Amino acid sequence: MARTEPAAAGAAAPTATYEVTALRYGSLRATREALYYRWGSYGEPDGELEMAYYFWLLRNAERTVLVDTGFATAAAERRGRTVLVDPVEALASVGVEPAEVDTVIVSHFHYDHVGNLDAYPDAELVVGQTELDFWTGPLARRAQFAPHVDQPDIERIAEAVAAGRARTTRGEEEVLPGVRSIEVGGHSPGQLLLVIDADDGGRVVLTSDAVHFYEEMDTDRPFGVIADLGAMYSAYDTIATLAGEGAAIVAGHDPAVMERFAGEGGAEEFAVQVRGRKR
Ligand SMILES: [Zn+2]
Repeated sequence: MARTEPAAAGAAAPTATYEVTALRYGSLRATREALYYRWGSYGEPDGELEMAYYFWLLRNAERTVLVDTGFATAAAERRGRTVLVDPVEALASVGVEPAEVDTVIVSHFHYDHVGNLDAYPDAELVVGQTELDFWTGPLARRAQFAPHVDQPDIERIAEAVAAGRARTTRGEEEVLPGVRSIEVGGHSPGQLLLVIDADDGGRVVLTSDAVHFYEEMDTDRPFGVIADLGAMYSAYDTIATLAGEGAAIVAGHDPAVMERFAGEGGAEEFAVQVRGRKR
């Protein structure tokens, strides 16, 4: 068929697809006891567990989109996290300058996902309405919630919303062509996961913190930071369903992402391209 042949009447417009890149910029050496919810209840020995910090880049000819922006290095050092590279420099290492970023999709408002928003003053934000309502509300100040966010980040998001520079999403929605957001909650009240149509014809699920480690899903054991335990378990089910449909799952904090998706030449120092299709 000739490429110039017009699409049949009524045919759907071609949907956008994206090159998906995971950028790893930080690290924490911890233990299962410290990271899992009630680890002691499983009657198994404790063990070391390394947590990796990522944000994600979606690119095609029309758009340069970030999913989250990583932590601000000062905020991370204050919390004892290891900064491998400043997140904005990690982005530069794959050839993207902040001014090129047109959209930032915020998976949730924890400090390691919304630091550095000031580096993208012109980007449109896409934020969860549930997440926005919670973190600008009174419960956000309580002792089991407050340490997970930095107030200036929340204010920056609220300002963007007030200035009309942010869109909110709720439930399940196509937030950009080829990018579907699913509000799952659990870890944070309005935690989103994102399903991306990848440019290799497959689909990529960025779980963000709906799943920190692959072993969480494999063993059905929730992570320790929880807003709603039932919703966290249900999110595992949602992700398992998407995996069963053939989507590639990208866990939010698992060092294994770098090896799992490394190409023939291995991963770049701070970045790995995520394939939607299995090889
Ligand atoms: Zn996180």
